[in-house]
Amino acid sequence: MNKARSRHYKDRVDRALASPQLQDALHKFGDAYAVSRANAFAAYDFEALRGGIARIKDEVRDNHQRYLDEFIRNAAAAGATVYLASDAAAANDYIVRLAQRRNAKRVVKSKSMASEETHLNKALEKNGVHALETDLGEWIIQLAGQRPSHMVMPAIHMFKEEVAELFSKETGRAEPPDIEHLVKVAREQLRQGYLAADMGISGANIAIAETGGLVLVTNEGNARLTTTLPKIHVALVGIDKIVPTLADAVDIVRVLPKNATGQAITSYVSWIRGAVPCDDTEKELHIVLLDNGRSQLAGSPSCRDALRCIRCGACANVCPVYQTVGGHVFGHIYIGAIGIILTAFFDGLDQAAELVRACIGCRACVEVCPGKIDLESIILHLREEMGDYEGIGTGKSLVFKNVLRNRKLFHSLLRTASLLQKPLTRGERTIRHLPLFFSSLTEWRTLPAVADQPLRDLWSKLPQPVQQPRYRVAFFGGCLNDFVYPELGENLVTVLNRLDVTVDYPLDQNCCGIPALYSGDRETATELAKQNITALLAGNPDYVVTTCPTCTMSLQRDFGELLGDDPAWRDKAARLAEKTLDVSRFIVEKLDGVNRLKGLADPTGVTYHDSCHLKRGAGVWREPRALLAASGREVNEMAHADRCCGFGGSYSFTSHPNIAKRILGDKVDDIKASGAPCVAMDCPGCLMQIRGGLEKQGVPVRAAHTIELLAEMLD
Ligand code: SF4
Ligand code: SF4
Repeated sequence: MNKARSRHYKDRVDRALASPQLQDALHKFGDAYAVSRANAFAAYDFEALRGGIARIKDEVRDNHQRYLDEFIRNAAAAGATVYLASDAAAANDYIVRLAQRRNAKRVVKSKSMASEETHLNKALEKNGVHALETDLGEWIIQLAGQRPSHMVMPAIHMFKEEVAELFSKETGRAEPPDIEHLVKVAREQLRQGYLAADMGISGANIAIAETGGLVLVTNEGNARLTTTLPKIHVALVGIDKIVPTLADAVDIVRVLPKNATGQAITSYVSWIRGAVPCDDTEKELHIVLLDNGRSQLAGSPSCRDALRCIRCGACANVCPVYQTVGGHVFGHIYIGAIGIILTAFFDGLDQAAELVRACIGCRACVEVCPGKIDLESIILHLREEMGDYEGIGTGKSLVFKNVLRNRKLFHSLLRTASLLQKPLTRGERTIRHLPLFFSSLTEWRTLPAVADQPLRDLWSKLPQPVQQPRYRVAFFGGCLNDFVYPELGENLVTVLNRLDVTVDYPLDQNCCGIPALYSGDRETATELAKQNITALLAGNPDYVVTTCPTCTMSLQRDFGELLGDDPAWRDKAARLAEKTLDVSRFIVEKLDGVNRLKGLADPTGVTYHDSCHLKRGAGVWREPRALLAASGREVNEMAHADRCCGFGGSYSFTSHPNIAKRILGDKVDDIKASGAPCVAMDCPGCLMQIRGGLEKQGVPVRAAHTIELLAEMLD
């Protein structure tokens, strides 16, 4: 690992965390965005729209050369000069040389993330050409000497007071921090720039192969001025922006503003094609098509879906990590989930390393992406690549390879931990304060103690009085269920027995492997997948049920992916995936639980927290609510019910506890605001995090697993 890079990154995280205004601004924007976006898509089928975009983009990716040739041919026929730049240096070199040939000293720019990617402004300045950014946000960033912190709203992190100060320096007058006034100042200043410019440089949202034309989607009208006023227009466009037809471009224009900012459509949609008359001559149009890692991305089986991105920025808008630290920390040139992936391909794994690890894996980005990109899975893959590239750290490596893979040793160590912790727990199930250098772990949440007796030791003593079992299921407990919350296993038996199901606990099951996989140790995760498949299929159960959604995802998704190339294991992994269900879905879908558990609970209020991997991984969110409501509880929805709680396994312990703490703070606030005396959830990890946060803050709200609440009404 690169220690200096990590230290530098941690400093930036700390600085961002010390700015509550930044988080406040990003949270407010995130809330307003969610409402506007929902309104904008109210009359549309988002799933159908994004399925369409994914198809368009995949078609181009898979027939890359054909569409590239078609675009170049048609753009040239319409009078454009097209240059294919293999990398950033080639693109900059072309534009700089063009400026020199035309004796251009002043350039106006608009709407080009690609030029951020190539650091074009620096290259121009170095050669005596002054570039003026004309997007308001970009201009503010330029004056501040910063880089954008969002792809669609580059200055989202700045406050009007800071902007007023920057503008005052520029105009030499004291400009008041009034937004309307500041916009007027910008308009006046930039107008001079357009009139004096020798060249206009833009990007493009879409390039159409069928026509050789470009599309720009903007709100300020500056792209129109940039591309029409100067006699030379240079469009710097990533080759991933190509779509086959005009109709495909319309499909993207229909979705882009809705998903980017929640607008039905932007103020301006500019369609540019070929050279047009300009005075007594023709305007010059140069299109610089930028590869810079895109072809390499297309060739990566695990990451190539990232080329479906239409750069709407929504993956950042909904990301809890982005909302906590902002784009200057959670991004390099491009920000948020897609930024992590593009950074790895455009700037190399070294630049992406810290970003890859900063993702908490909540899948909010996956849900909102109009390109239907499974961003989280790609980030996970990059983590594995990072593991190969620079290792996962000696400590982790030793633990995963020598302890986690050896079930007996791993479990004996957990039993030993339960004895060693005695002086800390003082007989309680909760650790309130850890000593010495561990103390920071319990500053912001309590932690559960390791149980005196793990579930596996209790299992044979659990009576299961089921006369005529309807199903025989195997329970995959996962480490937390087994060694921290064994009572959840007992609760599961109580509920399932009542519904005529017997439960087996295969003792050879081991950790699901997620800690290893999320740390980049694919080899250990693969070994654990084999151990668990063998253990769980041994008794040929009707179903395998879990109470932990991360384990559910592991059994349903990851084992198959890890063993997909291994003929001896592939079918077994598929068989296990087919049999695996989260317990609340099992109860609702297979056991008619909503009717059979009806009206048994007292009518106490409860609010519900959606675990990320349950809702956005396993697709389960209606089921636990249905069970709680049917049983007689009053379900009061909290705000942001499906926002991450900040647990993320080792994320909240070792890699990013400061970010996890802040994300938990938001969750606790939402729970308090719901007014419910109890918060239910379906993940032992979330339970650890949320219960710990509520206890530490002294909030009198009970945190419980849904299965726990169902079991206690049956007692
Ligand atoms: S990855 Fe998806 S959500 Fe993120 S910017 Fe691209 S299209 Fe938008
Ligand atoms: S998975 Fe969650 S934390 Fe990771 S990038 Fe996506 S939204 Fe952000």
